[in-house]
Amino acid sequence: MASLTLNGIVLRHANYRDNDRILTIFTREQGTVTAAARGCRKCGSALLACSEIFTYGEFVLFEGRGRYTVDACDVRERFYALREDMDRLAAGAYMLSVTEACTPKGQQSEALFDLLYYALSYAAYGKQAPVDVALCFLARCLAILGYTPRLTRCACCGEDLRALPRLGFDPCAGGAVCGACMRPDSIAVSPLSLEAVRRMLLLSNQDMEKVALPERVRTELKAALNAYAEHVLERKLRPADQLRC
Ligand SMILES: [Zn+2]
Repeated sequence: MASLTLNGIVLRHANYRDNDRILTIFTREQGTVTAAARGCRKCGSALLACSEIFTYGEFVLFEGRGRYTVDACDVRERFYALREDMDRLAAGAYMLSVTEACTPKGQQSEALFDLLYYALSYAAYGKQAPVDVALCFLARCLAILGYTPRLTRCACCGEDLRALPRLGFDPCAGGAVCGACMRPDSIAVSPLSLEAVRRMLLLSNQDMEKVALPERVRTELKAALNAYAEHVLERKLRPADQLRC
């Protein structure tokens, strides 16, 4: 059997048989892969630590008949603080849900991997509200995928939005819209929320810890960015309302 070594973060696990798990791992080198962790739920198993969500490590996988089996894992970080606080956990779980929705199997994305690593670090250990990290992650993730929403000019008519007091966000149109182009189901957003997204997209990953959103901006962006992401990714995400302000 061929073996390969991949740096990955566990996005999901599903128990099967008495002691095994199937892991969904987002890897830096090969995008999302699934691998069986045999015996990982046995007491004392060397694979126990690497079979939990959020775990980041160097996985050694065996490939046989088109399937991967985890042979060993050098765990680098478990982001354990995410499990000790409901707000941190909600933010971390939401980011894993977004990652799983946007990483088809075998599609490599080092930029997305690095973004997820930093975002989980700040959600686990940062001083700012975890929900702000999750929203920043979502905006930057969409940009990496080529789905940056329209933020400066109306997605319908092209009018400059920066001087307008009344704005909406229309996922189907591709982003923010002017008052004249708003539809009944457009999501209300303030100029401040659009400016917050513009700034979040300009940060480096290391600067994500500086993001601190006003309450109203958080509420607006939770609705607008999540609806937009579900539209472009064509997937339902883990409910964004579990992200607590
Ligand atoms: Zn317009």
